[in-house]
Amino acid sequence: MRILVTGGAGFIGTHLCNRLIKEGHEVICLDNFFTGQKNNIENLLNNTQFELIRHDITQPILLEVDQIYNLACPASPIHYQYNPVKTIKTNILGTLNMLGLAKRVRARILQASTSEVYGDPLQHPQKEEYWGNVNPIGIRSCYDEGKRAAETLMMDYHRQNKVDTRIIRIFNTYGPFMHENDGRVVSNFIVQALRKQDITVYGDGSQTRSFCYVDDLVDGMIKMMNKDNFIGPVNLGNPEEYKVIELAEKVIKMTGSSSKIVFKPLPENDPTRRRPDISLAKEKLDWQPSVPVEEGLRKTIEYFRQVVNKSN
Ligand code: NAD
Ligand code: UDP
Repeated sequence: MRILVTGGAGFIGTHLCNRLIKEGHEVICLDNFFTGQKNNIENLLNNTQFELIRHDITQPILLEVDQIYNLACPASPIHYQYNPVKTIKTNILGTLNMLGLAKRVRARILQASTSEVYGDPLQHPQKEEYWGNVNPIGIRSCYDEGKRAAETLMMDYHRQNKVDTRIIRIFNTYGPFMHENDGRVVSNFIVQALRKQDITVYGDGSQTRSFCYVDDLVDGMIKMMNKDNFIGPVNLGNPEEYKVIELAEKVIKMTGSSSKIVFKPLPENDPTRRRPDISLAKEKLDWQPSVPVEEGLRKTIEYFRQVVNKSN
């Protein structure tokens, strides 16, 4: 198949492009390089199955493809809050453009949505039927509400125009190829530990997240894309839940670092608890994560060791 991956030079996109190429597909990677990097996909640049286009999805594009994975959007709070108007444009205009493309060429389209659609959840763990608790006017809204609107667009194009849509709600995912300055918790803690800098825990560190290794996530994404008669939304994440402070301690231990934990103010609207209920993914996709957090962290630490050594 010919497959379009928007945001293909970002963290998850890099893994997805590599997997799809390995499976024998032709891949078109489309990226504006806001948070993605050419270095990530350097190994693919001379591959005849691979094509890279610098393009911003807020602008329309004409292509002929069979499937579209719509991943383009900065995912780290510091990056999506850098230019919030652009973030919401990417989610709304960008998704509209990709849906228009899917409609025109009759491609199947998968939207990378997020656990953030549940906001600061009042139900725990989060099931797909939960409508969420999102602040519509806060500093995270450009992302949370943007992704909610993107889900709405997917459903309306499906109902109104019979576009073949899929929605996945991704929970915190980590692994190699995250940017060293990405700003999300796993990369921050590992890079800080390797540089022997203070580990910055926001708030008292009692807030929880559930961390999924990227290979597991990509398996789930591909399963969902190729599943017939199930459009989602479906949660994809690892249901093992950790306090942020526990993650900090684990990273210090695993890196053997002398870093100290310091406490910084909790960002506004930072969700208190987050853990996916993945019963639906198990039932419909026969999917569940298989990489334990220790193993995923070990691989991620190895990756960042090389990155940090290079930049020293
Ligand atoms: P990332 O920031 O590493 O990658 C995003 C990519 O999209 C980058 O390559 C960036 O340059 C590109 N991009 C941003 N705006 C664009 C635009 N207007 N046009 C073209 N390209 C654009 O983030 P990621 O972690 O790889 O996330 C990928 C997708 O998965 C995002 O849609 C994100 O919302 C979603 N997601 C990720 C997580 C996670 O934990 N990693 C969790 C929930 C949802
Ligand atoms: N966090 C932290 N220190 C950091 C970065 C993040 O304590 O250096 C916290 C953050 O406040 C949040 C959790 O870790 O409670 C996950 O943050 P991240 O930005 O990775 O993702 P999100 O908040 O979008 O789930």
